[in-house]
Amino acid sequence: MTRLHGIDLDAPGRQVGALHLTHSDNRHDNGVVPVPVAVLSGAPGPTALLVAGTHGDEYEGQVVLHRLLRETDPGQLTGRLIVLPALNLPAVRAAARVSPLDGGNLNRSYPGNGTGGPTDQLAHALVRELLPHADLVMDLHSGGSTGHYLPSVFVYDGPGPEAWQAKRRLTESMGLPWTMVVPARFEPGSFSTAADDAGVAMISTELGGGGEVNPAFVSDAIHGLRRVLAGAGILPADPDTPPAPPTRWIDLLPDGAVYTPVRGLFEPIARLGQEVEEGDLIARIHPVEELARPSVPVLAHRTGVVAVVRRPPLVDLGDALYRLAAHRPDADTPSSG
Ligand SMILES: [Zn+2]
Repeated sequence: MTRLHGIDLDAPGRQVGALHLTHSDNRHDNGVVPVPVAVLSGAPGPTALLVAGTHGDEYEGQVVLHRLLRETDPGQLTGRLIVLPALNLPAVRAAARVSPLDGGNLNRSYPGNGTGGPTDQLAHALVRELLPHADLVMDLHSGGSTGHYLPSVFVYDGPGPEAWQAKRRLTESMGLPWTMVVPARFEPGSFSTAADDAGVAMISTELGGGGEVNPAFVSDAIHGLRRVLAGAGILPADPDTPPAPPTRWIDLLPDGAVYTPVRGLFEPIARLGQEVEEGDLIARIHPVEELARPSVPVLAHRTGVVAVVRRPPLVDLGDALYRLAAHRPDADTPSSG
């Protein structure tokens, strides 16, 4: 059963349609959840699958894909763009990270299940119906409502030297200020792992966050995306697109999370991108109700670069205030591939 409606993937020009998800609740029984899809096809060539809104409260990437769709003439293309700017539509509509229909986190749901809930159906449709057509994939994320990230490409290490070189070329074309590398198969249920399993080169981004739209990060990402598509031969080189600036490679560390020692109000002292040394004072936590208690200092447990800062400032036990990353000595070889 196909979930893709209103689109013939082999037809030329601009088409819009939807992936139809089914859900039997008070609102959706007998109807569908129509996840919007656009396909732009030009002369024969490679296919890029471009998605945003995997998490509904991450906005920069959604804006970037709306811009690309509306500013691209299919006649310019040598190849095809398959674009889903509001991938987890129920989450996008709810301005939420996960789907309000089934609580599903799409980026933990791959390869999905065709007879599962709407989030599993969506992952399954992507893997079965769209990923097999793709030569490259980009999934544009941001920090969302609960964090600010360094503006970065986010890429899974490995799975082998050749696949890593393909990801590295995409990363360098994208040219964001930072590139965060995580270990191969970092999240087994992620789209990145699904793309690795399918043998399709994929990178993601983290474009800021805070549930906002940062204009500078949107601009950087549009230029980067146009360079990636030009590098793949899909878009012609554009004289208005600046060359890719160099990126700083960092590894997100498995032991890099800094958890709050108490509940209270988080006063960040270390800033995004700051280099911290083990023992540095990086935050204070102020007890909200107990005014006779002193504030609790938070010290860096290791040396690193501040890659993620939590928001909002009210924190509870188990919340990560920061994630620290390490400079990557050599981006040429996968360290764990
Ligand atoms: Zn995300």
